[in-house]
Amino acid sequence: MLSLGFGDQSGQVNIKSPGSLLPGGFCSLSHGVKDKNEETWCQSHLADQQLHQLLEKVDADLAEEACQQGCLYCEGKLHRADYDRKPRGGPQWERRYSFCCAQEDCRRRRTPESVRFLGRRVYAGLVVVLITAMIHGLKPGRVRRIREALQIDSRTLKRWRQWWLDNFVRSSFWKAARARFMPLVCEQRLPLSLWLSFKLEQRDRLLAVLEFLKPITTPAAWKELAM
Ligand SMILES: [Zn+2]
Repeated sequence: MLSLGFGDQSGQVNIKSPGSLLPGGFCSLSHGVKDKNEETWCQSHLADQQLHQLLEKVDADLAEEACQQGCLYCEGKLHRADYDRKPRGGPQWERRYSFCCAQEDCRRRRTPESVRFLGRRVYAGLVVVLITAMIHGLKPGRVRRIREALQIDSRTLKRWRQWWLDNFVRSSFWKAARARFMPLVCEQRLPLSLWLSFKLEQRDRLLAVLEFLKPITTPAAWKELAM
């Protein structure tokens, strides 16, 4: 099986430390106990303009860096060739930065990593991340209202959950990354267990999660992860 290069597109694994972690095993967290603040901080992250601007800036820097490195195949110059996006239920980011080699006989694409777009999906990475934390422990009626506000249907939510449990857990990215977490992240409770380990309620920690996940945001990674 093809082993994908994460971190950059040259095949190096580059995983940042998840930083400070909660004590105790995440599997031991009781189900159904809802922190009253959880929904509030999730909603404030979703609406936080400064955070959105910060994520935009990080993506612009990642794009700038990739552009300066040039084409990975022929060292040709890169031209902007962004992808159109129409994200739902979050910031209205309409462009995913991408480049195309200027050399006639090459023309290969280079799409830098992103802290805004997790996959090809119509949802921004922070929506995908926050929805799990937001609906954790809520009654079905409340979950439905949040889903509706974010324009996510229940099948999509179920598919996402299954994706974390199957594709994500089996990925070479996660296999390399999971050992960095101490205590270990409970894989049966993904992705919530991962968010808890990052202490997502603090704004800078949300950026940390999205930066942690950025190696899986390139088209090369999507192939393995079926995103
Ligand atoms: Zn090229």
